Amino acid sequence: MIIGSHVSFGSEQLLGSVKEALSYKANAFMFYTGAPQNTMRKKIDENLTKEAKKIMEENGINIQNVICHAPYIINLANKKDEEKWHFSINFLEQELARCDELGISYLVLHPGSAVGYPVDEALQNIVDALNIVLEKNYRCMILLETMAGKGTECGKNLEEMSFFLKNVEKEVGVCLDTCHLHDAGYEMDKFSEFLENFDKKIGLNKIKCVHINDSKNPLGAHKDRHANIGYGAIGFETLLQICLHEKLKDVPKILETPYVGDTWDAKEKKYPPYLFEIEMLRNATFNEHLLDSILSYYNK
Ligand code: FE
Ligand code: FE
Ligand code: ZN
Repeated sequence: MIIGSHVSFGSEQLLGSVKEALSYKANAFMFYTGAPQNTMRKKIDENLTKEAKKIMEENGINIQNVICHAPYIINLANKKDEEKWHFSINFLEQELARCDELGISYLVLHPGSAVGYPVDEALQNIVDALNIVLEKNYRCMILLETMAGKGTECGKNLEEMSFFLKNVEKEVGVCLDTCHLHDAGYEMDKFSEFLENFDKKIGLNKIKCVHINDSKNPLGAHKDRHANIGYGAIGFETLLQICLHEKLKDVPKILETPYVGDTWDAKEKKYPPYLFEIEMLRNATFNEHLLDSILSYYNK
């Protein structure tokens, strides 16, 4: 199973990310090149990248299973403020250049939110922006993420995803997110059917990453609130079957589940759940004492 979680990209950059991933016994990971909410970015340090790659090699982490996620503030859908739209385009270009510098193959991107735009125009704005960005040739491929349809988010169903893939002139891929799909109304316990449908409309070979998250909300809620694995509306067995799915066996699975506090609803969330969530999925066994396991491990 190729599985990991999102990790930070701090002062040690990719090297810090690798170390964190290894602390979760992961063989894949996803990082943001800076805070996901802003566009402040530090210059890539070549020595840290080299060291990171060495450690990855020693620990059997294939760089193809290392994913970057673009910041949320990039919005290619809304062109009302043309300056902001161009800012998003420009930032996305810089992010792809950073990925190329790091040797990262995939950059996950939220397609964007229509805000005041009619959906069809918003979808076209996204396509236009991607066509501008991809005029330059990057080695790194953009993966459009399937969204929950919260607010005016685009990419909330396979028809919209298929529109992107058909109309963007250069190749882009897809990142599935189980919480988003569930919140968008797709039943994750019928995942094989979903994949058949996806294959017909888009093509399974376009799926390069899967975000494995449970959901705090019922099917079709359009909320996008992630829950810990087995502690939400999707449930452990269904998420496990997705991780084990034969057709996606070579695709990295990335957890973006919430940190936990001293209790499930503690205000301060300080402990990462990933070591134990990865263990549950690898062992195919639900841990009904997940919170206790995490707390006793990090408080030792
Ligand atoms: Fe995302
Ligand atoms: Fe996601
Ligand atoms: Zn989400």
